[in-house]
Amino acid sequence: MRQALEAAELDALLILGAENRFYLSGFTGSAAVLYVDAEAAVLLTDGRYASQAVEECPHWQLEVSSRVFPEGVAELVRKRGIKRLGAESQVLTWSQWEALRQVLPEVQLLPCRDLVEKLRLYKEPHEIQIIKQALALTEMGWQVLLSELRAGITEREWALKLEFYLRERGADGVAFPFIVASGSRSALPHGIASNKQVEPGDLVVIDVGIKLGHYCSDFTRTVVVEKVAPWQQRLYQAVLEAQQAAIAMVKPGVPAREVDRAARRVIAAHGYAPEIFPHSTGHGVGLAVHEAPHLSEKEEMLLQPGMVVTVEPGAYLPGQGGVRIEDMLLVTEAGAERLNLSPREELLLVGRRKP
Ligand code: ZN
Ligand code: ZN
Repeated sequence: MRQALEAAELDALLILGAENRFYLSGFTGSAAVLYVDAEAAVLLTDGRYASQAVEECPHWQLEVSSRVFPEGVAELVRKRGIKRLGAESQVLTWSQWEALRQVLPEVQLLPCRDLVEKLRLYKEPHEIQIIKQALALTEMGWQVLLSELRAGITEREWALKLEFYLRERGADGVAFPFIVASGSRSALPHGIASNKQVEPGDLVVIDVGIKLGHYCSDFTRTVVVEKVAPWQQRLYQAVLEAQQAAIAMVKPGVPAREVDRAARRVIAAHGYAPEIFPHSTGHGVGLAVHEAPHLSEKEEMLLQPGMVVTVEPGAYLPGQGGVRIEDMLLVTEAGAERLNLSPREELLLVGRRKP
């Protein structure tokens, strides 16, 4: 972090973003400011979190105050003689900026982007381990609950069953509201589980992720209920091949946008219009479920060992249905390792009545 401060020509940085705060300090409470300069690393919080901070953040100097922001921060910044102070431009609100400016008129306040996020790009072994655990639990729940996905159940009922199962077995929470989108709703890339009943012949896009030990999982499969139509098979095949082409591009030194292009080329080669694939091919996952690098048309960042990304092309025919397949990959020295294990070579038929 200090090397990054020096490179950005900052005397000090304030960190308020919850994930960044946890990443650097281990603090899990909801209210604290981290302050870092060339020598000091201070965690400012209020009395509610004092003993928690002592426990969670043994490497940080603790400042407890009833008025952390902006007064406590201003006092520290003045005491340290800081001239150029950075703060996270994507986290602080306009009114927080204004408040800082008012209490520190003599200090140059500089908006900073992605300073901590750049460190978070490269996952360490313990982070990869916990992400794998989160994925393994997610996939186990999906596997077990799949037998209950059949005509007559509502999307919401099934999503709740899955969430209950996962939380009972250790998930700290969901990484995002589960997407269970059936029939024509499966053409909505973000069709959060609704009260719609699942019907025979429905494609169902299931996109689920949990939080475990502060890290996220993100996983999607598409299934079909009771019977499958040729157009559904064709759509699935196109997305599957797009995903395979994209996965083949995931290796060190490849610009992230090339992974996206590889997926789009395949969808187009299958004769579908570009509009049916309206989202990027993937994204980084870590403490946040969506973080850098983004596998999108514009992302020039090169993939590097230690990055964890999803590869999740989709194709959506409005009014009919959609398909998405999502796996998580770790970029390694040699290429990439898939972090989850569920098969996806076939469009899975669910809910068939027993003869
Ligand atoms: Zn997802
Ligand atoms: Zn995703």
